[in-house]
Amino acid sequence: MLNLSRRDFVVSTAMAAALGLNARLAISPAFAQKTPDPAKGFVTYKIGAAEVTALYDGIWEKPHDPAFIANASVEDVKAAMVKAGLPADFVSIPFTVVVVKNGGKTVLCDTILISHCHPDHIFGLMEKETNKPVFPNAELVISDVEYKFWTDPAVIDRLPEARKGLARRIQAVFPTWNNIRQVAGEAEVAPGIRLVNAPGHTPGHRAFHLSSGANELMISNDTAYVPALVVANPGWRGQYDQDAALAEASRRKLLDRVIADKIMICGYHFPFPGAGTISKDGAGYALDVIKA
Ligand SMILES: [Zn+2]
Repeated sequence: MLNLSRRDFVVSTAMAAALGLNARLAISPAFAQKTPDPAKGFVTYKIGAAEVTALYDGIWEKPHDPAFIANASVEDVKAAMVKAGLPADFVSIPFTVVVVKNGGKTVLCDTILISHCHPDHIFGLMEKETNKPVFPNAELVISDVEYKFWTDPAVIDRLPEARKGLARRIQAVFPTWNNIRQVAGEAEVAPGIRLVNAPGHTPGHRAFHLSSGANELMISNDTAYVPALVVANPGWRGQYDQDAALAEASRRKLLDRVIADKIMICGYHFPFPGAGTISKDGAGYALDVIKA
């Protein structure tokens, strides 16, 4: 169910919009995926007593766009992809959902515990066309800052054109649901899981910190969305970071914490299965992903 809704969005909406095509064209063979799916689409590992499962949910092979990184050229972006061992002819943006089982609870991170309201993180909550809830019996948890930002009717006028439709859809849906819990600050939202303030990508973007016994995992969400680009070059100003300076500050703070505390990190757009460690690397950082 998750797979279908996310893939549908990635192929028919995001790619079509990015390419300026209609959805029917975007799924033609000319746009067939070049990156092979992993042989096994899920990987389970332990963080203390917590069971974590990474679920592969597809990949967006994003065509290069000079506007994607404001302070780097397409050639710079291609070189960074190659340095990370990835193809140069598009930006690889995989989607990996994390499920945490701990303390008798099952928590789906993006999209039930919500990091932020970008389409690739919340559209899995809503049926296409009808906006009916996909998970009507689950509690949906989100930062109060993020919720209030997107549901404020006045925000639509302030948003760039490309984000207005997103805000309209959120405003047509979220306020009519009664299973959304807004959370302030860095509260514990489920057994062993706390929100971590990481604003900038969006105003209320949050990472999730899982701890069990002596083990910890920083579920970084989109703090360092494509590591080949912004872990290696934390100062790069990405188009999807709403406040790029704040996003950079949050990124550096979170990566420094992961290094100082010697803990694991994973990310929604990290190479599958998405969990690894961070080290300093010159002026930037390096991600060492644990192989599936
Ligand atoms: Zn994302």
